[in-house]
Amino acid sequence: MELSALDAYLNRVYKIIVLLIPAYCVCAAASITLMQASGWYPPIDSTLLTLFDASTLVYLAIGIYFIRTGFGADGIVRPDKLRAAKIMMAVIIVIQWNAISYLWPFTDFWAYFLLFTIVEAFFFDPKLVAWTSVGIVVSLVVSWFFGSEMLLPVRDELFAMNLLFRVVGLALMLLSVNAITYLGGKFLVDELEKHANYDPLTHLLNRRSMDSQLQAAHALASAGKADFCLLMLDIDNFKQVNDTFGHDCGDEVLKQIAGIISTSVKKDDRVFRWGGEEILVLLKADEDRAADVAERIRHEVATEKVHYRDEAEVSISVTIGLAPWRDGMSIQALMDDADAKLYYGKRHGKNQVVSALPPTGKDNPSFPRRQRP
Ligand code: GH3
Ligand code: MG
Ligand code: MG
Repeated sequence: MELSALDAYLNRVYKIIVLLIPAYCVCAAASITLMQASGWYPPIDSTLLTLFDASTLVYLAIGIYFIRTGFGADGIVRPDKLRAAKIMMAVIIVIQWNAISYLWPFTDFWAYFLLFTIVEAFFFDPKLVAWTSVGIVVSLVVSWFFGSEMLLPVRDELFAMNLLFRVVGLALMLLSVNAITYLGGKFLVDELEKHANYDPLTHLLNRRSMDSQLQAAHALASAGKADFCLLMLDIDNFKQVNDTFGHDCGDEVLKQIAGIISTSVKKDDRVFRWGGEEILVLLKADEDRAADVAERIRHEVATEKVHYRDEAEVSISVTIGLAPWRDGMSIQALMDDADAKLYYGKRHGKNQVVSALPPTGKDNPSFPRRQRP
């Protein structure tokens, strides 16, 4: 499968961020330890420091683990791993902030506050950044009760004013990071997602989104909540259209057929272009309504002529295989059923809806299998 812009972006961000956050932690540990060893740093309990150093190595191991296990066979970062990695990185950030609050004797380290959330913004996940912000703010406040002085200015006559400035500064920082994440998520990632999930020629959903949609419908049906059916549809003699009228005209035909199908189904139904001129329809309907819809599509395609730049008037038809989901059926079995029916229709005159196959015999269409796109 082709890598979409969104997949490519997430792949890269995943690889960078799950290593960058642990790398920050390792650098912090290394510099504190070096300063301590060279006497530049006020003494810290050496057991605590060793624990701190060891924990950052654990983070690094976690990062490497996510890099090594995060990608599916298609080279795309697995959604479950992406989610787990994001949560894990947020947890590491909050732990690291706490560890540094108690180890670091300099109250002005609060100025690095932003650093702890900002790298997460690259995921454009507003919830992630919001929860991490809450985590480190709460940690900061709680740490005041345990002797950490982070954020608190020198207690002179300007204390209250100084503190107010610092708090407002922090609040503005967090507001900015959260706003960037929110807007980026809304306008950039959502837009990329749309591009990734739709076919540019027909504006139908593409194969990328097909698996998850099929699985969702299958899960609902298996739980007894809603029936569904598949229509597998292939344009008849399409090569001939391309050969006679040209490829551009073929594209026009495809667009118009996509339009007819899209307007023949309900809002909850899904139409996918899943091969060159093969279209799969996921109907949230029982077998009777699915048969009605299929017949309506077939009829409309067959009666509506496609006009191409006033040059050609093309008559087109489609053959449709209808597979209703039955209890216990897998998605693959359902696809095979629809495919077998489509193939049967192709061998028996085309321009028809096939919703049942004749009993097994020499006419059984299951073999030989067609080449799938
Ligand atoms: P059949 O009735 O058996 O389906 O005959 P067919 O000629 O339609 O055969 P088949 O389904 O195997 O043909 C697929 C053809 O569709 C081959 C390819 O040139 C054409 N095709 C696939 N994608 C596109 C496309 O995006 N645009 C155009 N113009 N043609 C396409
Ligand atoms: Mg065809
Ligand atoms: Mg075909």
